[in-house]
Amino acid sequence: MIEDVVELAKRRGFFVQSAGVYGGVSGFYTFGPQGAALKQNVEDTWRDRFAIQEGNMEVDAPTVMPEAVFEASGHLDTFDDMHVECPECGSNHRADHIVEDNTDIEEAESLPAAEVEELIAEYELVCPDCGTGLAGQVIDDFNLMFETNIGPGSASPGYLRPETAQGIFVEFPQLAEYARNQLPFGVTQIGRAYRNEISPRKSLLRVREFTQAELELFVDPEEDEPTLDRVRDVTAPFYPADEQEAADGEIREATIGEVVDDGTVADPWIAYYLGAAAQWYESIGVDMDRFRFRQHLAGELAHYAADCWDAEAEVDGDWIELAGFAYRGDYDLSKHADHSGEEFTVFKQYDDPVTVERATVDPDMSALGPEFGGAAADVAAALESLVERDPDAFEAASESGDPVTVEVDGETYEVPIEQTGYAVEEVTESGEHVSPHVVEPSFGVDRALYTALDHCYREDEVDGESRTYLALPAGVAPTTVGVFPLMDRDGMGDRAHEVVDDLRDAGLAVTYDDSGAIGRRYRRQDEVGTPFCVTVDYDTLGEGDDPELEGTVTVRERDSTDQRRVPVESLAETLRNLRDGALTFDDI
Ligand code: AMP
Repeated sequence: MIEDVVELAKRRGFFVQSAGVYGGVSGFYTFGPQGAALKQNVEDTWRDRFAIQEGNMEVDAPTVMPEAVFEASGHLDTFDDMHVECPECGSNHRADHIVEDNTDIEEAESLPAAEVEELIAEYELVCPDCGTGLAGQVIDDFNLMFETNIGPGSASPGYLRPETAQGIFVEFPQLAEYARNQLPFGVTQIGRAYRNEISPRKSLLRVREFTQAELELFVDPEEDEPTLDRVRDVTAPFYPADEQEAADGEIREATIGEVVDDGTVADPWIAYYLGAAAQWYESIGVDMDRFRFRQHLAGELAHYAADCWDAEAEVDGDWIELAGFAYRGDYDLSKHADHSGEEFTVFKQYDDPVTVERATVDPDMSALGPEFGGAAADVAAALESLVERDPDAFEAASESGDPVTVEVDGETYEVPIEQTGYAVEEVTESGEHVSPHVVEPSFGVDRALYTALDHCYREDEVDGESRTYLALPAGVAPTTVGVFPLMDRDGMGDRAHEVVDDLRDAGLAVTYDDSGAIGRRYRRQDEVGTPFCVTVDYDTLGEGDDPELEGTVTVRERDSTDQRRVPVESLAETLRNLRDGALTFDDI
């Protein structure tokens, strides 16, 4: 089946491996005319659902970013896959995939490398390319980022971003200002990401350059809760961690309201986006009977993530990850705050100012100077930091009369309490700094597009002839309407061209075709998923047998192959309504 889709994709201009004239290179694809239009439509529907309808902001950040960004984010240290090289043919493989593909073990990615080495030896696993045993081969960590140099020389290393998210996080201080410091606020970005995958495979499913659509929602962890109304009744299949671990675990069909109420999905923000995602995937043609939300097992979770769910689809017998939904706490913003020294908080104004007691110090430098010499200023700074973190240490010293102890560069200093200038003051505060938490829905566009093609691929028989068609929803199909003259003569071709112009003026994606028998023209459009075809015939011109049909055309629906007569004056409006879901074909 996957071969059929890939063959169709290549033959009809959806996607091909890039630079094929030079032999191509794994993991890079070019979207052809149909594919580029489909991808744009998929991205537009995502933008509409997750940016516009949610009132989120959208950004467009560079794909090359300096090293400091990925030092802070942790990608430089930890964005690695387990690599094993075949001792015989020299081919490179993902060690965890070799284990997953040849044993019952799932999620080998979360195991330590030493354990994967042992499993390869224990199961006597071999090189997928040449069959040589891999036991005893070293498994090393391979960093997936593509490195480059910014400008001449190597003084300024840069990296192609492995995800779009960091381009949002690093601009948080400005974005918070644009959002007038009001939490929650969301920021989306659709753009390319690059991962130097060890072994790209399965067509578009694992590639080295792909498009992500990510949303970073910044919330006040103490206060913000979503309104679930829009998604409460959305139904989807859920596969929680406990069901995955149980011997007879099941995937359960439930509504978003149910999984929030019974605690299956602990965080209501995650639940909200699972609901929105299910609606969106269905709208682009993903078959909900081959779809599920799977919770990460404890071993799969990143250490900072409180909970994570993946959207998964069945493609060619395997479940593949389409998107991840993670509650990331304050991990990302606090990392960038630490590394950059900038403020990554929002100032939350209180309704009314509040008066609070605040412990302060005012170190007596005339005493600290002679006592500690060159270290005196650092000792004073350490006292200031300690009083913020642990005012009780000063309170205890005041009561006991013992000195306050601080550490500077590994040395311990004791400061008599009266030299610290410790005091408790009443201060009036108008608000506080809040470190927002991040809820991150992260979608892969290429995998969504590929899954939609796979799930919409159909073969049937029409009038005794077999046909292949793509049952893509009208809202994302590359072309909405094919317009044909019954024959290119007696003015039908000219009239059909006028119809094409009118429909294009009305914002529809239209293609014109006058070559070959009408049945063949229908098949050509069916195969690229065009939902409607319009035929201009003698009746349209008022030269047919039935005078009542003058000024009408035939509109034919792809999936049912049913036909209706529609007046040319209302054709554009009818087709637009059909595309946007405001009208069904049976309504005509
Ligand atoms: P991740 O940050 O790994 O959770 O990736 C987020 C999403 O990007 C995934 O759910 C996939 O849809 C997509 N993705 C990740 N890696 C690849 C890849 N090598 N090829 C295509 N899509 C990918």
